[in-house]
Amino acid sequence: MRIGDHDADELTTALRRRYPERVRPVGFYPLPSRRVEPGRFAAEYRPRRTSRARTGLVYVHVPFCAQRCDFCRFYPGHHVDDAASRYVRTALAQLRLWQDLVGGDRAAGPVEAVFVGGGSPSVLSAEQLHDLLTGIRGIMPFVDLPEITVEWYPRDATEEKLAAVRAAGATRISLGVQTWNAEVSAAMGGHHTAEQADAALAMARDAGLRNVNIDLMANIPGQRLDQHLEDVARALAWQPGMISFNALEVAAGTPLAARAAKTSFAESDDDKRRWLEATRRTLFDHGYAHQRVRNFHRPGGLHRYNRRSAGVSFDIVPVGPGAYGYVGGSAVMNELDLRAWTARVEAGELPVVGRSTPSPEEDRRAFGVSSFLELQFDVDDYRAEFGSDPLADFPFLGDLLDLGAVTSLGSLLRLRTDAAPFGDDVCGEFHSPTQRTLFDRHLSIGRSKQANQYFPLATTRPHRPTDDTQIR
Ligand code: SF4
Repeated sequence: MRIGDHDADELTTALRRRYPERVRPVGFYPLPSRRVEPGRFAAEYRPRRTSRARTGLVYVHVPFCAQRCDFCRFYPGHHVDDAASRYVRTALAQLRLWQDLVGGDRAAGPVEAVFVGGGSPSVLSAEQLHDLLTGIRGIMPFVDLPEITVEWYPRDATEEKLAAVRAAGATRISLGVQTWNAEVSAAMGGHHTAEQADAALAMARDAGLRNVNIDLMANIPGQRLDQHLEDVARALAWQPGMISFNALEVAAGTPLAARAAKTSFAESDDDKRRWLEATRRTLFDHGYAHQRVRNFHRPGGLHRYNRRSAGVSFDIVPVGPGAYGYVGGSAVMNELDLRAWTARVEAGELPVVGRSTPSPEEDRRAFGVSSFLELQFDVDDYRAEFGSDPLADFPFLGDLLDLGAVTSLGSLLRLRTDAAPFGDDVCGEFHSPTQRTLFDRHLSIGRSKQANQYFPLATTRPHRPTDDTQIR
């Protein structure tokens, strides 16, 4: 029986039955899993053939913060100006090493989007931010009108810095507001005030940075849903291009986890689903739509970096210690430690220390995950890439069509709006057992490990294509 016409409640019930436990979101697939000697990746570089030129994307990890938030499981180093200047020079040197490697590869397309994250890139000085962004633009070929996003911590905002990034070509700011509620902010161990968040938004607007993403944290221990919806209303008042809903996942080893344990706070999948539902209903009423499960855009606010990382025909060139990337068809990770990363780059060595080169089966799975992160899957692209039918390779796609969770529109399979909250669960259906094990380890790494990034790597073992499993 075809039940695609089920109403939303029936579809939700069916999907809850199919996915009784919420799959934790992971934005990377596959994870780099094997340790490699620095220099080996460049020496062995054999880009995977794709059906079309690869979209160029650059991810820059800035490993500094002026504060350490109680909920954060990353371990960015404390910002020191001299170290930051050296970091900027080294980051540009690493990008030149990448350009030397992929620049001769005609399948590598010009850069369409850059994401500068961390850490808090906004902790850099105006001059450092300007040098970093203009330097990047001068090293790799770019399309006309690229998207360049800089993550921003509200307390770091100054008119000078925002004018500097705008002048250097930034087109988008991603602001970590998290909450405007002082009580909730104190409960999560945030370090900025509501006034600083509003001031940062006003300064970005005045600097001409109109494409803004506002990050909001939800499901914080002690926070009520009505308080979160007040945050959503305050975000809407700024009419940003995007509003992102981030359910707090309490990370082991953080001060927040210690406090949550004292109050017997227990994370609840049901609460997380219920809050997401209330949030998205509010956002729909104001003209926003899903881009990803938790990222909502209004017309003109689509995040190009994410949209262009669907499928497998793209490169994410990683810059900075611990940065993740995907280059020539391999998942790669840079040296984690800032000093070791700096030393390797200064010695002229590409500091890739972790990689996975997916097997053909794992490549198909990666196509599925990266596509459904964006809630849609291009069947024609898949066929051109792999020469096979995705519904034959992944029979569960037929189940989702029958259920009415996925609809077919031209060459696209699209997750219906009512099914969008289950996007992570659909991505989870593509995961291989090998990658699932890595994700579990990745999500269990806590702050106590003192890692500034978070991919568990096997110790030295010869590199082999990953995935020993067959698609069924
Ligand atoms: S949450 Fe962001 S700003 Fe806070 S310590 Fe972590 S990386 Fe830095």
